[in-house]
Amino acid sequence: MTEKDCDVLVVGGGVTGVGAALAAARNGARTTLLEAHPFVGGNATTGLAIHSYFTRYREQVVKGVAQELVDACQAAGGSVGHVPYDGYVSMVTPVDGDTFRMVATRLLHEAGVTIIYGATVIGARRTGEHIDALQVAVKAELREYTAGIYLDASGDGDVVALAGGEYTKGQPIAGGRRGMQPVTMMFAASNVDTRRAAKALAIYEPAMATRPDYDGEFPVYFNGTLEAWEDQLVEAGEIFAKQKKQIWINTVWPFHLNLNLSVGIGVDGTDADSMSAATVDLTRQVAILSRVIKANVPGFEHSRTIPASIVGVRETRNIVGIAQCTDEDVREGLKHEDTIGRSAFPSDIHDPITGDVVHTDIGGDGSFDIRYGALVPRSFDNVLVAGRCISATHAAHGTTRNMAQCLVTGEAAGVAAAMTSKSGTDPRLLDVPALQERLAAQGAFLG
Ligand SMILES: Cc1cc2nc3c(=O)[nH]c(=O)nc-3n(C[C@H](O)[C@H](O)[C@H](O)COP(=O)(O)OP(=O)(O)OC[C@H]3O[C@@H](n4cnc5c(N)ncnc54)[C@H](O)[C@@H]3O)c2cc1C
Repeated sequence: MTEKDCDVLVVGGGVTGVGAALAAARNGARTTLLEAHPFVGGNATTGLAIHSYFTRYREQVVKGVAQELVDACQAAGGSVGHVPYDGYVSMVTPVDGDTFRMVATRLLHEAGVTIIYGATVIGARRTGEHIDALQVAVKAELREYTAGIYLDASGDGDVVALAGGEYTKGQPIAGGRRGMQPVTMMFAASNVDTRRAAKALAIYEPAMATRPDYDGEFPVYFNGTLEAWEDQLVEAGEIFAKQKKQIWINTVWPFHLNLNLSVGIGVDGTDADSMSAATVDLTRQVAILSRVIKANVPGFEHSRTIPASIVGVRETRNIVGIAQCTDEDVREGLKHEDTIGRSAFPSDIHDPITGDVVHTDIGGDGSFDIRYGALVPRSFDNVLVAGRCISATHAAHGTTRNMAQCLVTGEAAGVAAAMTSKSGTDPRLLDVPALQERLAAQGAFLG
């Protein structure tokens, strides 16, 4: 079996892993990034606005690597930056998924990160609280990777789970069971008259923006409904009875829209059979939805549909950390001594049974501090976690799972991993003020 060694091994190259690997490498760690797909960016490549840099009161509380990526995407023509919106959030940040992928790949390369694509972590060797190696399946080969720090950015907490660490999965639902938020396959429609489409679908005034290569303002973000075409949808398939037909649409182009609309209920994002069945179902949903929309909704008459290449997963495991983001953090907008950055997106819960969506505003000044301890699994002396699977209650996860927050936790975990892998320090014992000082010096916002 081939063996590979590094200081920091980042597992998962989604938006979180990109932030984490950049931060680790820039802080002097020999960094390897393992990614199961043949591209980085994960869910960020499926066509979503990055939420949320700003509080409900339009104070910017996310900066650092998260801001750098938006600036780089905007310079590459793939973002319109931060745009005011008078809906369930006060500002939106539309970013083109393909541009994000290209920009992230370039920045990782420039930072000296070794990226291994098509690499899936399938096992872990441990001695007591210490992970000794991860087993990784690559093209027709099984490898062992060893590292000073293993940084779990898999979204699903795979490293922690494979090594036998503690985690929760989903939320309590009826009958003493646990359920997870639905999954969705995004899709894009090109060749759309986006002004007419927004007029037909939006329930609030759309966020409008300009770009240097186009005359005039165009809609870049709106949420809306297909209720006016309910009869046609019901006729097209029983799937649409399961949802309230709430849709979120964004773009950085005047002729193209990304649609968040399909819904897969009762899917386990950590189970290959469940995810494969969902992929079949959601591909079918996208085909039906795009046919109904093209036939009925103004602006889509000449559209072409492009399904996202992956199914987006909202919720699976959350690790048990030495601290946790809590319901109270969300309710009160609490601030903490051991902060590594802020979370400002309202708690966004898609009901595991009905698919209905509820947004709950963060209290206080509209943001809460994410504690360092939420990135540190209780069970290990050489593991850090970032992104969707950090230690968080269900309501807190509803805010920290969003991409600006994933970049905040990714950057903090990357810097912490570089600091601890060099000194051999247990991340549970890290000097948090030293981490905060470094993060602030690099441009992160700590309040
Ligand atoms: C449909 C949908 C809409 C959303 N809308 C928004 C939105 O509008 N704005 C917003 O900010 N957020 C939104 N979110 C939330 C946000 O997109 C995700 O929570 C976030 O992108 C998660 O990032 P991540 O890097 O932690 O995980 P992921 O993007 O899931 O990335 C994890 C990566 O790890 C890799 N990986 C997993 N397991 C392994 C393994 N064992 N070995 C190797 N690699 C592995 C995967 O291939 C993947 O690339 C949405 C989520 C969904 C599903």
